[in-house]
Amino acid sequence: MAVTLSQSSISTYRDCPKKWKLKYVDKLPEKPRHFFSFGKSVHDALEYFYAVQALPPKPLEDVLRHYRENWISEGYANAAQEEEYKAEGERILGDYHRKHYDTFRIPYFTEYAFTFDVDGVPVRGFVDRVDKVGEDRIAILDYKTGKAIPASRAEQDQQLTMYQMACEELLGKTVETLTLYHLPSQKALTVPRHGKELVQGLRAQVVEVAGAIGREVFDPKPEERKCSWCDFKPHCPVFKHLYPGAPVSPAAAAAEAAPKPGTDKALAKLVDKVGKAAEDLEKRRQALEELKAELAQALKEKGFVKAFGSAFEAARQSSERWEFSDRKKVLDEIQRAGFWDKIMAPSAPLVQKLMTDPAVPLHLREKLARLATRSEKDELSIKRVADEGAG
Ligand code: SF4
Repeated sequence: MAVTLSQSSISTYRDCPKKWKLKYVDKLPEKPRHFFSFGKSVHDALEYFYAVQALPPKPLEDVLRHYRENWISEGYANAAQEEEYKAEGERILGDYHRKHYDTFRIPYFTEYAFTFDVDGVPVRGFVDRVDKVGEDRIAILDYKTGKAIPASRAEQDQQLTMYQMACEELLGKTVETLTLYHLPSQKALTVPRHGKELVQGLRAQVVEVAGAIGREVFDPKPEERKCSWCDFKPHCPVFKHLYPGAPVSPAAAAAEAAPKPGTDKALAKLVDKVGKAAEDLEKRRQALEELKAELAQALKEKGFVKAFGSAFEAARQSSERWEFSDRKKVLDEIQRAGFWDKIMAPSAPLVQKLMTDPAVPLHLREKLARLATRSEKDELSIKRVADEGAG
């Protein structure tokens, strides 16, 4: 199988080869994500800002008009979240414009599209901005709209290495600096061009990934955090038991029907036995969860925290849970009020703790409460207290 790779498809393959196949070969769709829409909307506005043939640069009103007219609405949880992001984008573009208007220079390229060859493997991508810094020297810049970036990231970032390789080969110029520009904080992390070691490491990785794809190595590589974000669970063998009636793509069905190499009869029997046992266990676990929910609901309705059977005792414990859909806004509020050091590792429980800390000013606690959604969770524990029929 011959393919054209990109930096993001390489990292998808390295994360999980099965996911790569479902996404790039079977072309199964993924859910739209608001952070991609947001990033693209802001990137497009900056591309528009830099698309000039002569000075002066475009006024902020023009950039904002373009931003609003080309806003991408996909993937937001609701209208309120979308409005907050839209306003945040306007803030970012305003700050960017104020910071760079006076020193504006027409870039060498914006959204530079490239396809080049890495040891026989075609690779493509886009560079956000390329600036000329001398006759034969250029600077590469990549905008980021997500969370804060550690200062060391630009030194190792593989995407920047790829951009450097592509620009040097295709434009015939030497890359002097590489920059990750964090738009929400307007901080530029600039490092000198990446050295031989990173370039060779990436070359080897491209060749290795292309080789594995050529050999059709598409094993799933489950990992809790990554799988929890993966839209392909209904099509993934690891989660197949949870989606018995899930539709199968034609390519996946053909692969499924093909004889599997390296499977003998005894092994196949054992595989089915283990699969069946796992399926039974999952069904029983689901049935248990349903029964527990039914019992917890019955206890709640009667206002009991405990109830007894002839052999078991059940206890219901209520705990409250707050969810913060706009994490960035929550963290901004905390940072602004000078309580950042209280949550060195920001998480919902730590923010929740802040909300009940009397040392935190009431206005901040109230603000955080307004940004949160409160829900209640009932937990049920059950233990055997006697043999059946003992009572
Ligand atoms: S669910 Fe996990 S193992 Fe399956 S394809 Fe997605 S990332 Fe890979």
